[in-house]
Amino acid sequence: MQNIFDKLNRPVKDLRISVTDRCNFRCTYCMPKEVYGEAFKFLPKEELLDFDEIEKIAKTFASLGVTKIRLTGGEPLVRKNIEKLIKRLSKIEGIEDIAMTTNGYLLEPKLDSLIESGLNRITVSLDAIDEKTFKKMSDQNFDVNKVLSAINKANEKGFEQIKINCVVQKNVNEHSILDLLNYFKETNNIVRFIEFMDVGNLNGWELSQVLSIQDILEIIEKKYKVRTLDENYPGEVAKRYLLEDYSTEFGFISSVSKPFCTSCTRARITMDGKLVTCLFANNGLDLRKPIRNGCTQKELDEIISKVWENRSDRYSEIRHELTESKNHKKIEMFQIGG
Ligand code: SAM
Ligand code: SF4
Ligand code: SF4
Repeated sequence: MQNIFDKLNRPVKDLRISVTDRCNFRCTYCMPKEVYGEAFKFLPKEELLDFDEIEKIAKTFASLGVTKIRLTGGEPLVRKNIEKLIKRLSKIEGIEDIAMTTNGYLLEPKLDSLIESGLNRITVSLDAIDEKTFKKMSDQNFDVNKVLSAINKANEKGFEQIKINCVVQKNVNEHSILDLLNYFKETNNIVRFIEFMDVGNLNGWELSQVLSIQDILEIIEKKYKVRTLDENYPGEVAKRYLLEDYSTEFGFISSVSKPFCTSCTRARITMDGKLVTCLFANNGLDLRKPIRNGCTQKELDEIISKVWENRSDRYSEIRHELTESKNHKKIEMFQIGG
């Protein structure tokens, strides 16, 4: 294995693979129905990377220093035979950890096969546990209890410290902050509050809708005694905290108020094979074409290394300059999966 570094001396360590652009939810901040309604044309199957292609890309990244893979989407559990892909990825030399980010709705019946395939960790996105807000934010008439039950079953079957990610939007789900902590405080799952981000171009993001870490912490501290925890490893993205009376961890992901670009070691692959080096990029390099043209593993290695070695992204640190210009077009969140 050789390690490669970008222009800001960041190695590539994590690979996020979006396995589909489709989703069973229509979260208003990610795939608003006005845009992604019945008439929206998702990519035909042949445009998605197939499992051979995904494996080839993952192998290349593993040889360049990646040890962790996260499957995302769209909703990764709507991709057919996802377990077969996980099994293949888990056998790649150098890959130590495979995780999945899911909305959890289709999770429960798949738990056994996911465990069997070698999935190590699950993150469940859950913005509210009251039926009304859950339905409003996912914009579907779905039962939140199905997600809660899947999390519980996943715990019973051995998934520990499941991350429960909640995107907080001002005047939409502020009440979920305490709801979620109350609900999960006696489990060993970790609720993490995510600042609403200006990803994509279509969710009508405005700074006034963002509740910062500080705002969220103030709400929590009115009810709970909290203290900070040390990083698990240098450059950890989430800021860790403890509910002291319960010894329960929770955390924050604060791309807006406290950017973490200096330690960003993530590469992202879109469902159609574009290599994207920043969550807020406006494009990526097409890997599908050279792969379909029969490039060798070594050639793919060179293509990917060149992109990473030229990388200097730090969007969150320079957000203000860019959003003021208003011309900065970005890839949509469901295409790169967070
Ligand atoms: N469908 C899966 C899910 O929701 O977990 C995986 C893909 S989803 C795009 C990945 C994560 O991105 C979710 O946790 C979602 O809440 C988050 N997300 C989407 N749009 C966002 C935004 N504008 N700001 C912050 N987080 C966002
Ligand atoms: Fe689907 Fe996830 Fe986007 Fe919600 S956040 S619409 S669940 S891809
Ligand atoms: Fe990484 Fe881009 Fe996010 Fe900065 S803005 S942490 S470079 S993905």
